Amino acid sequence: MIKTDEVRIKIAIQKSGRLTEHSIELLTRCGLTYSRGRDQLICYGENMPVDILLVRDDDIPGLVQENICDLGIVGGNIIEELRLELIKKGTKRLFNVLERLNYGHCRLSFGIPENVEYIGAKTLKGKKIATTYPLIVEDYLKKQNVNATVVEFSGAVEIAPSLGKADLICDLVSSGATMKAHGLFEADTILESTATLIQSPEALSKTKKDWIKLLLQRIRGVLQVKESKYIMLHAPREALQEIRRLLPGSEAPTIIPLEGFKDKVAVHAVCRENVFWETLEELKEAGASSMLVLPVEKMLA
Ligand code: ATP
Ligand code: ZN
Repeated sequence: MIKTDEVRIKIAIQKSGRLTEHSIELLTRCGLTYSRGRDQLICYGENMPVDILLVRDDDIPGLVQENICDLGIVGGNIIEELRLELIKKGTKRLFNVLERLNYGHCRLSFGIPENVEYIGAKTLKGKKIATTYPLIVEDYLKKQNVNATVVEFSGAVEIAPSLGKADLICDLVSSGATMKAHGLFEADTILESTATLIQSPEALSKTKKDWIKLLLQRIRGVLQVKESKYIMLHAPREALQEIRRLLPGSEAPTIIPLEGFKDKVAVHAVCRENVFWETLEELKEAGASSMLVLPVEKMLA
């Protein structure tokens, strides 16, 4: 057990938005129980020295960079924009990226009015581009050797072209429906983003480091479990090779003899990928029967 002294780890997450529910769920599945402070901005960890700060997502990387919080969970898009800003300022010690998480998926893409023909980055030449992520866009334009004007918008970027404030936009997309609804089509993607766990650049005490290591190990376990399934089936011995080939992402299945059957066995395996109907149908074709797919509750490698 790690020594619990007065040291407490502060982790900043989004107060209310797309990442909130998943971030709370992730910490809860890591075993953290907490009580919510009266001001509703801090949740105090009860069984681990980990407190949750609920803030606006844009403030999270700054809080971690300034060591006000030890950890933070925020979109890769916001992290990348701040990283470029800090590099521009010449900051030496940047926050560390610990883990990309499996939620908050989105991409930063160009949105072009439907009547404009898009023929790659050169289409952007001389254009006015509205975005909330000016540094990421400028960085991309520089790498593509394209001159264009970037105008910063803090919200509702997608209306910029129809207001005549820009020729096109570069904005976050998940389904693409918002761009479409504003008469724009999605062109090149310049950043793929997910929720990401970051750590302060300050040297942390040994106790804090140990707790963060433990938390990270649990987070990795939770992420793995989400995709994993436990599968049980019966199979003719002669089909074992084919059945093992079909089991998605499983290393060493357990083979158990079946009472009263000489040429049939039970196969149990942890599949580190989701098991879809198509896979079950293929397994059946290969001779498997009595198939059962179960969710995995916890996993520790
Ligand atoms: P806050 O009030 O905390 O500033 P916000 O409105 O800036 O919230 P949200 O819209 O809740 O932020 O998005 C939070 C994060 O979710 C984004 O930074 C991004 O990483 C991710 N995300 C996932 N899908 C989308 C999407 N379709 N549009 C915008 N962000 C998305
Ligand atoms: Zn925000």
